[in-house]
Amino acid sequence: MLGSMMDRPLLVSSLIEHAARNHGEREIVSRSVEGPIHRYSYAALARRAKQLAHALDRHLGIAPGDRVATLAWNGYRHLELYYGVSGMGAVLHTMNPRLFPDQLAYILNHAADTCLFLDLTFVPLAEALAPSLDTVKAYVIMTDAAHMPATTLPGALCYETLLAGQPDTRPWPPLDERTASSMCYTSGTTGHPKGVVYQNRSTVLHAYAACSVDALAISCRDSILPVVPMFHVNAWGIPYAAAMTGAKLVLPGPKLDGASLHELMEAERVTMSAGVPTVWLGVLGHMRESGERFSTLERVVCGGSAVPRAMIEAFEVDHGVHMLHAWGMTEMSPLGTVCAFKPGMAELPAAERFAIQEKQGRAVCGVELKITDDAGRALAHDGKTFGNLWARGPWVCQAYYKDEGGEAFDDGWFNTGDVATIDAQGYMQVVDRAKDLIKSGGEWISSIEIENLAVGHPAVREACVVAVKHPKWDERPLLLVVPAAGRTIDKPQMLAYLAGRVPNWWLPDEVLVVPELPHTGTGKLIKSQLRAQYRDYILPTA
Ligand code: AMP
Repeated sequence: MLGSMMDRPLLVSSLIEHAARNHGEREIVSRSVEGPIHRYSYAALARRAKQLAHALDRHLGIAPGDRVATLAWNGYRHLELYYGVSGMGAVLHTMNPRLFPDQLAYILNHAADTCLFLDLTFVPLAEALAPSLDTVKAYVIMTDAAHMPATTLPGALCYETLLAGQPDTRPWPPLDERTASSMCYTSGTTGHPKGVVYQNRSTVLHAYAACSVDALAISCRDSILPVVPMFHVNAWGIPYAAAMTGAKLVLPGPKLDGASLHELMEAERVTMSAGVPTVWLGVLGHMRESGERFSTLERVVCGGSAVPRAMIEAFEVDHGVHMLHAWGMTEMSPLGTVCAFKPGMAELPAAERFAIQEKQGRAVCGVELKITDDAGRALAHDGKTFGNLWARGPWVCQAYYKDEGGEAFDDGWFNTGDVATIDAQGYMQVVDRAKDLIKSGGEWISSIEIENLAVGHPAVREACVVAVKHPKWDERPLLLVVPAAGRTIDKPQMLAYLAGRVPNWWLPDEVLVVPELPHTGTGKLIKSQLRAQYRDYILPTA
């Protein structure tokens, strides 16, 4: 027997319509690429998204299903593309400008994008890419006529000129809820990036989950500053979750340094922010140097890489800000787990609380997780046994675009490539990326765990552990450290700090102090590059 409820499709357009109807006056504040702070409301966003949709189909010939690419920071025009493109049934392809140019050309051609919208910052980049692009027919620079640059981009159009005079009314089409709404490519460190295509349905379900109290607890009373870029997994879904609740959105544009972020947080009374650990490193550094305080910030969502305990502690102890550790992936829209407390945990002594917060957290309802050994057998959820982490759920992808990379999918589950433990209370902790684990004498060493301890040393800014070949032990850990500004660190100091904090046989065989480490476009360490570079390093113990 079927139920008799209305079969209304879950559509991205319904989010902006809801926000315009119920929170029409709520603000969206952006630091523009041109410089000034721009502010308007959800009602204005909804109108401009409709103007954009008219421009897309009337002027640019965009049809449902066409891919529209962006190279843009977090800002209001990018948000208009989020709603205008997906609302009309086309597919928003947000591109990470920090990828290598040949990767960008590859993904633009692979997605067969017909149109590229770009911020002023990225004009030189797009000019360099243009000759290699097979399918892009129009370039739209996201600025007004007064700021249009001289450019070699063929037939470059001005965003504001395009929108001017377009009607700001238009019914959004009643799409099939499985219609693609947006797509992102994984920032593959090996091989070509792979495409993940989100649906209207998965995006709306993900937004409901993100807002829920034991996830990001987003409400209309929040003022949210997503530092996580709108080109990286839809800024973790915050642009949709904010519209769903009517939360104020504060978009930082290109200025992502600690001082600029703090200034914007204070000016706009930000209650919640979200970003990768590297961003918070910058913010905490600024706070330490300037002695400034947060007057409204309550919580910070951090993920993308493991959050070191020192960072959880610094936010809590020095600033009274709660660190919400989360884990996810491009393939998962991205939310998989959030480390919200169960009853009684908030009252635990600080050290025990921080130990819980170091875990990536519990699956948000909708996501199922399991850990298995290499033969696919399920492993115990005892917080100690670690294995390959698999996920499934309505916002987890079931195949890559054009069915590439099929080996990651098996029997309705997605192999995340992470190795993790799950404890009896359901808290998952990432031990490592499967390919980053170090196998020493048949036993595994977690590179993440050593790295997170190493950055707890006040003289260390960043740390990376990679496996190096060893004649006796097969592999041994090599630790690379970047010193904090104005500080020095050496091998004996580092090893003395780690001794007693990790099992003795985990202590790195070598510690090298380096000026910097390579990062992917999303701020993660490019360990594959470092592994290749140091694979044959002759260790003093070899
Ligand atoms: P991406 O698709 O670029 O967002 O990368 C996803 C990968 O980032 C995951 O598979 C993890 O390896 C890593 N990751 C994301 N969040 C965390 C976290 N909180 N702790 C450790 N690793 C994380």
